[in-house]
Amino acid sequence: MTKKKNNPKLFACGQCGGDVVMSKKTGHVESFRSGKVKVPDSFSMPKCKKCGEIYFSGDREAELAHAIIEKLLKILNEKGIRY
Ligand SMILES: [Zn+2]
Repeated sequence: MTKKKNNPKLFACGQCGGDVVMSKKTGHVESFRSGKVKVPDSFSMPKCKKCGEIYFSGDREAELAHAIIEKLLKILNEKGIRY
């Protein structure tokens, strides 16, 4: 029998020293480039379990950009907009 380790600790929070784990947050708005974007609800981010601080790395930022583009393309498709 294998014990599944889900949501392992990534690193210690720089704010409070708590455990930072991958976590999903509904309706989270993140500063992105020169503006703010609503993070898709299905997108998981490194988040402190104790104080709720969210850590965004460059890699995650690129993935977020990708996720947002995919979402936009889906919306355009649903509206029947071709470009
Ligand atoms: Zn913290």
